Amino acid sequence: MKKKLVVIGYGGMGGWHTQHALKSDVVELAGIYDIKQERCELAESRGIHAYASFEEVLADESVELLTLAVPNDMHEPLAVKALAAGKNVISEKPVTLDCASLQRMIDAANASGKIFSVHQNRRWDVDFLAMKKIYDEGTLGKVISIESRIHGSRGIPSDWRGQKEYGGGMLYDWGIHLIDQILQIIKAPITGVYCRFENTTNFEVDDGFKLTIDFADGAMAYIEVGTLNFLPMPRFYMRGMKGTAKIEDWRENTKIVTCKAWHESDVIPVETAAGLTKTMAPRDEITTDTFEMERPASDVHDYYRNIVKAIDGEATQLVTHAEMMKVMRVIEAGFESVAKGQYIKVDIQ
Ligand code: NAD
Repeated sequence: MKKKLVVIGYGGMGGWHTQHALKSDVVELAGIYDIKQERCELAESRGIHAYASFEEVLADESVELLTLAVPNDMHEPLAVKALAAGKNVISEKPVTLDCASLQRMIDAANASGKIFSVHQNRRWDVDFLAMKKIYDEGTLGKVISIESRIHGSRGIPSDWRGQKEYGGGMLYDWGIHLIDQILQIIKAPITGVYCRFENTTNFEVDDGFKLTIDFADGAMAYIEVGTLNFLPMPRFYMRGMKGTAKIEDWRENTKIVTCKAWHESDVIPVETAAGLTKTMAPRDEITTDTFEMERPASDVHDYYRNIVKAIDGEATQLVTHAEMMKVMRVIEAGFESVAKGQYIKVDIQ
């Protein structure tokens, strides 16, 4: 039987969750609750039941699952209350703002015995899944670095995302997705983090950032989010000892070039204004294989399917507490790096 779900917060993402739930084979939308009357009225006008208060949602015994789609600073207080009331909870990302806050949420979940997870929906993005497949299959040999970039040109949104008190900023907003993706690819312990913020259109929170993560196996990840990039750089770029993979745009296939012969006797030097270079001369098909990998299949409904199975004790939740904490520790180290203007050595297992 489908689990009854209430979405808390009927804004942009709350709207997405209600639409998603209406098409779901595992959850049934019991309604929404939003602190703003006009959002509740809008839901009612669309035929979606609006609860009168958060307490009314908690008191409804037929409701088993709450999805919190409210601004980032409100995730902890609402999750802790909902868990204490015996509800299973999905928090939107970022799950919360720091590790101490996340630990309080995990403690509340452990005390209640209920499922508590975060909506890491970008684990179903096909560009990420393509990179993970190439990494897992060892197509490029030992991976040296992965670069993950998201570039827009419209600045940071002018809503609460631009304000510190609500947990605004791009490290929380997009960083949390891109860090989670990288940690799903490279499982080695993290040894160091370096981060720089950009303030191009907003001076209260970061409207872009550049983050480096070093791993104990020698690999390095570079994550960049920009909101003032009129020419975006490739979405993903991964280098290994035997080849390179690139995804220009998240709607495109992955281009892969692998090396089949290291030595080249007939390299044609490239002529530049300042002289010739053999080192930087492009390779040809004699020493390389070039091919495309199609976008892997993906169904984001698997997120809720897994949560419902976890509630029924038939599966473990895909986005675990330990993974949530690992990502949050990287975020915290990122903020520390920015505050100190330094590289931060860490030991994150
Ligand atoms: P939004 O501003 O569009 O909507 C937030 C809604 O929450 C508003 O309608 C507001 O009135 C309501 N609200 C605020 N405090 C409340 C409270 N205490 N109780 C009930 N309702 C309350 O914001 P959004 O873009 O929908 O973002 C909401 C959350 O979803 C954020 O945490 C954001 O990071 C996340 N999000 C996730 C994704 C994703 O892909 N996973 C995408 C966008 C946003």
